[in-house]
Amino acid sequence: MKVDLAGKVVLVTGASRGIGKAIASAFGETGAAVVVNYRDNQARAEETAGEIEKQGGTAIAWRADVADGDQVQAMVEGISSRFDRLDILVNNAGIIRDLLLLQMEKQDWASVLETNLFGVYHCSRAVLKGMVMRRWGRIINLSSIASLHGGRGQSNYAASKGAINAFTRSLAAEVGPKGITVNAVAPGLIATDMSRGVLALSDNVVRERIALRRVGKPADVAPLAVFLASEAASYITGQIIQVDGGMS
Ligand code: NAD
Repeated sequence: MKVDLAGKVVLVTGASRGIGKAIASAFGETGAAVVVNYRDNQARAEETAGEIEKQGGTAIAWRADVADGDQVQAMVEGISSRFDRLDILVNNAGIIRDLLLLQMEKQDWASVLETNLFGVYHCSRAVLKGMVMRRWGRIINLSSIASLHGGRGQSNYAASKGAINAFTRSLAAEVGPKGITVNAVAPGLIATDMSRGVLALSDNVVRERIALRRVGKPADVAPLAVFLASEAASYITGQIIQVDGGMS
């Protein structure tokens, strides 16, 4: 399905690599102007934006740490004054600090919550005003199957993603009357820098737990994010949609 988002502006957080990069690239093909947010790696973010432009899209790299509310606010104000609008937010930035709880220091717990959950709060809050004013908006949160199924060593990450699911449902109820949809995409095991450690241990998981018998690619996740931003998805909100090859 060809999605036309010409005239819209999309912000994808943590988009210099992995799933965020695939989502940014997929939006680049819709005619939307794409903001490729990054925290550290300016060169890779500019490379991603450059690739989108080479394909005929419009894209720009923009630095902000999503865990820092002031930086997020400044980024959203900057995007809004440059493009005059911000219609679609993809809360993709995320980290893991996998540890058994007895070995998990407060900082390991807090850093995951600060990026994965507070980041979603900062970004969603910053974009909402403009969306409410325009009576149109899309917020798409990257959750995880870890939010739905227990896994050793991921209590911090699972707590952050479970909270994102609850946040998604509540915010959807709150802003639905304003023409804004809020959904979450919950990937299974996707081959990225983040999952490298898990993948190294995952031979039997792939064989036994994924119905499609393969690990996912970032490009397996991206089309759903684009669809959820499209007009065709305008009656879908408050949903947690799994993209996991049948892993669950
Ligand atoms: P990744 O590590 O390759 O990419 C994450 C990106 O987020 C990186 O570019 C990183 O720099 C950025 N980031 C981290 N903290 C940030 C911050 N404070 N501010 C701005 N950017 C920040 O990981 P990925 O696999 O592409 O993950 C993307 C999203 O998908 C995450 O939310 C992750 O939890 C989720 N997810 C991934 C998998 C998987 O198997 N890879 C499965 C389920 C969910």
